[in-house]
Amino acid sequence: MVGRAAPSAPKIRLNFLRWCGGNDILQRMKNMREMSFVLSVAALAIVCQGMAAVPSLKGSAEPAGAMGLKVRPLASAQAVPAPTPEAKRYGWKRGSESGEVTHHDVREIWLLHERGCQWKDRKGNKLTLATVSSLCPEFEYDHEERAKIEAAIKEGTAAFKEPTNEQLAKWASQFTGKQIASDAISSFAASRVLEAKLVDFGGGARCAAFFKSKDGAWRYAEFLFAQEAKERDAQRLMKQFLSGVVVDKTKSAAGSVVTEGKWTTMKVPGYIFKTDLPPSQRGAFLKDTSRYMVAMQAAYRRYVPPQRKLGDSTIRVFADKADYDAYAKDTTGEDNTRSIGLWNPSREELLILNQGKDVAERRETMKIMRHEAFHQYLFYATGNGNHAMWFNEGHACFFENVMYSPKKNTVRFYEDLKDRRAGAVAEDPEKYANLVPKILYMNRAAFYGGTLQAVNDKYTAAWAATYFLEKGAPSFEEFAAYRNVLPTYLKETAAGKSWEEATKIAWEGLEAGFPAAFMKFWNKRAGARNYEPPEPKAK
Ligand SMILES: [Zn+2]
Repeated sequence: MVGRAAPSAPKIRLNFLRWCGGNDILQRMKNMREMSFVLSVAALAIVCQGMAAVPSLKGSAEPAGAMGLKVRPLASAQAVPAPTPEAKRYGWKRGSESGEVTHHDVREIWLLHERGCQWKDRKGNKLTLATVSSLCPEFEYDHEERAKIEAAIKEGTAAFKEPTNEQLAKWASQFTGKQIASDAISSFAASRVLEAKLVDFGGGARCAAFFKSKDGAWRYAEFLFAQEAKERDAQRLMKQFLSGVVVDKTKSAAGSVVTEGKWTTMKVPGYIFKTDLPPSQRGAFLKDTSRYMVAMQAAYRRYVPPQRKLGDSTIRVFADKADYDAYAKDTTGEDNTRSIGLWNPSREELLILNQGKDVAERRETMKIMRHEAFHQYLFYATGNGNHAMWFNEGHACFFENVMYSPKKNTVRFYEDLKDRRAGAVAEDPEKYANLVPKILYMNRAAFYGGTLQAVNDKYTAAWAATYFLEKGAPSFEEFAAYRNVLPTYLKETAAGKSWEEATKIAWEGLEAGFPAAFMKFWNKRAGARNYEPPEPKAK
């Protein structure tokens, strides 16, 4: 009986009499006597408080997120968006090798996987819907790599097609954090669903049921009342809710769009977009951007082949600067008011501030997105959050300027002399050629140090190095010695070398000659602009 709150005790008795077989009742009644003192206190409390009426449901059904169901949510309730799980980064060292790994809380990732939708009304009543697809995987530690957690969840799903009451009880315990025994699960008569089972939480604050909808999938619905409700009323509400469940056939398989509160989420292969742009701009923005970023990711893969399987990357686009600043501060713990785009590895989220709706402003938004999304891509593709600035920023700037073919949905690199990087190099190529060897070993602090102009110059030098290595070295025989710089850097960091060590190995014997080689390249680069690396093998 431990762990059950006193005010709910009288309800336990009712439940036991109703749901338990004869033999069990005697034992339970004995337990109840031990609680008699608690019961009398609780009964008094209930007389004073009375029971609140249960909330009502909306008149019509609406799509329940991406669950493939339409349901009647709580009347005058707002959808509560799913939280973004927090990542924890750990450094590791093995002999002279070191690196960083990102871990997530296992249960947090599992909860996110199972959670479907949640609504909350003004009084604080909550309705939660979840898919019941697997038990929370078990690992040695609470924290693990996200990919491993997700693989374990996938594996667990196969074993959870027709769950037993024991399995359902375990699932409910894991989902709610409350201990549920299998005899707390009992059949529940409800129309419009194939099967339903009530979960007895032993109190009037929560009413929950598992149900198998007509698409054959098991799901979980839970009302959490702001004030305790009569069990009879709560169960009537649950019956009413279940009789309103409809399988939603309109949900498209290619990309699903879900609106929760002021945020709309769209999933496409490889990306999850979230935006609070005004509804009038939202649809077109999501449609164009999601298609565009699929093309962008193909370009990232081509230039920097992934070393591991990529998950879905989240991009959150804000309409409003104040909201962007507040969210960025909240999730990174740092003041980011000077930024308009930000990759936050601890939440694995890309934050972009929309620059406006006219053509030039849209172009600027996409430029920021292409740059920041490369940082995100590199993190996922290599599993490493600590790359050399020349490599990481150089490539992010390289992808700022691309030419897009909407027909083929592909992008190609584009040298734009009106752009600040190419434009600056064109004005004084020697300055940037000489700067490249100096930035190779700069860490974050050194790279971002100095005046704004000095910082910009370092970005431009990183861009110049990348342009040369990605386009010039493969195009002209005389730069063949530089062809291995990028592959070697990636190979060494993948093997656990630090960015400094990998840079040293990759640039061995090439640093001093770089300025002269770059100057030659700059003068004949027209013959290199169209070079594209071959498609990487699928991974
Ligand atoms: Zn950057």
